[in-house]
Amino acid sequence: MTVLVINSGSSSLKYAVVKPDSGKFLADGIVEQIGSAQMPDHDAALRAAFDELAAQGLHLDTLGLVAVGHRVVHGGKAFYRPTLVDEGLIAELDKWAPLAPLHNPPAVQGIEVARKLLPDLPHIAVFDTAFFHNLPAAAATYAIDHDLAERWHIRRYGFHGTSHQYVSQQAAAFLDRPYESVNQIVLHLGNGASASAIAGGRPVDTSMGLTPMEGLVMGTRSGDIDPGILMYLYRAAGMSVADIDTMLNRNSGVYGVGGENDFRKLRERIESGDETSQLAYDVYIHRLRKYVGGYLAVLGRTDVISFTAGVGENDPGVRRDAMAGLTGLGIKIDDALNAERSSEVRRISAPDSPVTVLVVPTNEELAIAQACAALV
Ligand code: ADP
Repeated sequence: MTVLVINSGSSSLKYAVVKPDSGKFLADGIVEQIGSAQMPDHDAALRAAFDELAAQGLHLDTLGLVAVGHRVVHGGKAFYRPTLVDEGLIAELDKWAPLAPLHNPPAVQGIEVARKLLPDLPHIAVFDTAFFHNLPAAAATYAIDHDLAERWHIRRYGFHGTSHQYVSQQAAAFLDRPYESVNQIVLHLGNGASASAIAGGRPVDTSMGLTPMEGLVMGTRSGDIDPGILMYLYRAAGMSVADIDTMLNRNSGVYGVGGENDFRKLRERIESGDETSQLAYDVYIHRLRKYVGGYLAVLGRTDVISFTAGVGENDPGVRRDAMAGLTGLGIKIDDALNAERSSEVRRISAPDSPVTVLVVPTNEELAIAQACAALV
């Protein structure tokens, strides 16, 4: 049994052929530069992905495919469980597009071309919001006009849920403890970044909100800002809503402050003495530490903190600086363990650290494939 997993973004389409039972990847890849002359649209991208699979000797009709799993960022109010795609669902995803303008429209395009090219397989949408659907009301509710919030379905939805769930399960397994007995903080630090607090297997808070813009400083997104800034830019700087949206999504975060969003290059610039890169990094770390501190208080007792995604898995400096000076809170990193490179789950805290700190590689494709297999 295999599942084809598709993560369709605005300019790239990631795919993987996964055996959900063993966790084995038969193939995975990415088609980039969608919207260019060579790769005009998602239809061309998916055909290119199939050509690449065929070139590796993988033919879709002989792979034992049971489903196509699609990563979808926002399912709005109604959709959060893995859901079989039909016309009704597509209409609903279109409806929620304004809440995830960077993510939902390309996901729908990916779903539509995949359904056209693979019409005989069930297509299943797996939502980034699912894990956080039952956040406690105190964490999910924004302190704004209650009727307005109800009418417009404004609440904290949370994103990267597939990753937070997968990583927290891996962390509990690594500690050899039942999932329901562990209190955890998960720090998903990629280009997008989010934190979550999970008490005994139940998510109790997360940093992203109605949209994937809130919370941590990200590659190109601001995370938390004073909402007054938006009105000020609108009134005083004459920026349109679209201008402000673009600024917050694409021209903010470490890129907005320091001019670079890849942490490898950001660090090179810092080492060569570039002050704005240093400032961008300091702002990023400061925000991260505030969230860790906040979630330690939300949880009361924390057993494990896990770092994951591109930055979290690969940048020992970010992990060191995020956790520095927290021995008073029970957190002590071992510098030698932190510096080791590996693709396995690993401990980076000192043996006598009351809070265990781990690096846990995320695997959203496997989690999506497993969710699809469970549904079919
Ligand atoms: P996405 O949110 O696009 O899925 P990823 O989780 O793949 O992002 O993370 C991508 C980011 O990870 C890159 O922009 C870069 O900042 C960071 N990154 C990747 N490899 C390394 C590395 N070896 N050292 C430091 N940062 C890295």
